[in-house]
Amino acid sequence: TELANRIELKRHLKCQLEDDQANVGILLLDLDHFKDINDTLGHYYGDQLLTEVASRLISLQSECSLISRIGGDEFVLVTTYNDCEQLSKTAEKVLQLLKPSISLGQEQCHISASIGIAHAPRDGDSSELLLKAADQAMYQAKQHGRNGFAFFSAHMREQAEHRMALLKDLRVALTQQQFILYYQPIVAMKDQSIVKAEALIRWRHPEKGIVSPALFIPLAEETQLIHGIGEFIFSTACDTLCALNQLGHHLQLSINVSPVQFTAKHSALNDWHQQLTNKGLTTEQFVIEITEGLMMNALPRTQQRLTTLTKQGFALALDDFGTGYSSLAYLKQMDTDFIKIDKRFVDGIAHTADDLALCEAMIMMAHQLGLKVIAEGIETATQHQLLLQAGCDFGQGFYYAKPMPKDELVNLLNT
Ligand code: C2E
Ligand code: CA
Ligand code: CA
Ligand code: CA
Repeated sequence: TELANRIELKRHLKCQLEDDQANVGILLLDLDHFKDINDTLGHYYGDQLLTEVASRLISLQSECSLISRIGGDEFVLVTTYNDCEQLSKTAEKVLQLLKPSISLGQEQCHISASIGIAHAPRDGDSSELLLKAADQAMYQAKQHGRNGFAFFSAHMREQAEHRMALLKDLRVALTQQQFILYYQPIVAMKDQSIVKAEALIRWRHPEKGIVSPALFIPLAEETQLIHGIGEFIFSTACDTLCALNQLGHHLQLSINVSPVQFTAKHSALNDWHQQLTNKGLTTEQFVIEITEGLMMNALPRTQQRLTTLTKQGFALALDDFGTGYSSLAYLKQMDTDFIKIDKRFVDGIAHTADDLALCEAMIMMAHQLGLKVIAEGIETATQHQLLLQAGCDFGQGFYYAKPMPKDELVNLLNT
């Protein structure tokens, strides 16, 4: 089945828009996780998958004036109606069409899409504007957890502009040394002595001041800038460990590693062991913090990298534990050393019996499997006390100390 290409799409849209009686709607769909599938199974099956998706979309021909593939894993459906309810129904149909699994060689593959919807005349009067609007809406659908659709709104245009501006600044931030690492102490619950620290990145933006990692890490992940940033984090953390060791402070240092750093074809993670050795450090002093999503959706390559790192002696911590779906048994199998109980559970323990019960259960189960527990976001003495009683091993939070620059950490350790 041959779908229209981008040029044909634009020509078609132009004609349809010029006819001022015509209502136009477009659905831009981008396959979720296509790149991962393509990387794992290879181009041959990747192409086969795209062909299958195309042939399923063809079945919507009767309600579309054009179906096109605009490159990569993106498709555009053009409709002759701009009614939101009708467009929603079409989007639902697309999602349903993609549901049945696709067999690729020996594998059964599940695919979904994120769909952005724009319509004329409201969202634009040219093919360029409409496609851009649909693309921004598609981005929103991705943000909202994929396998869904979103309508364009003017607010998205502002967001996209803000994002572009931030991205432009982010591209120069590494070369202009605008990143620094802060360190938040992690204490042993029993005596509140500092035994570990977590490295947390900060961006000193020349005009905006400190920008939160929650704002720029996702952007860095989408644009692959995370690789350079990740290397900065690792080498800075190494230098800090060297400095601390020389002062006689033998802490274990946690760094956050983004899933994107694991899934890249050529990951710098492969060289970390060597880099450490060159600097006279041992892997045991390092904790790699990863999130549940990485574990549960791990590609073979990611799994293998995790295994290699743990075999090399790196400790592994599962961040934000309890917010996803990982089973403790699986964590054990992956040679995890620590789970970090997410702040949202810690927040509630002093007031909600449920949250306390959940924390207690998580700690008990973790211990039975030989895992240690770090509770995050401890802000009060009561929370500390309750977690101590529940048998929690380590604590991190403003109650003990906020993230701080290296020199402040050294001062704190010296007192
Ligand atoms: P995270 O890994 O869960 O880090 C813990 C966050 O909780 C940090 O926010 C920390 O400052 C904050 N926090 C710690 N104790 C308390 C407390 O008692 N109360 C409150 N309200 N907050 C507390 P931060 O530094 O803003 O980082 C946010 C997230 O950004 C991190 O969540 C992590 O996912 C990501 N991030 C931070 N640094 C890095 C990094 O170097 N690399 C990567 N890939 N991600 C990072
Ligand atoms: Ca995609
Ligand atoms: Ca973390
Ligand atoms: Ca966390």
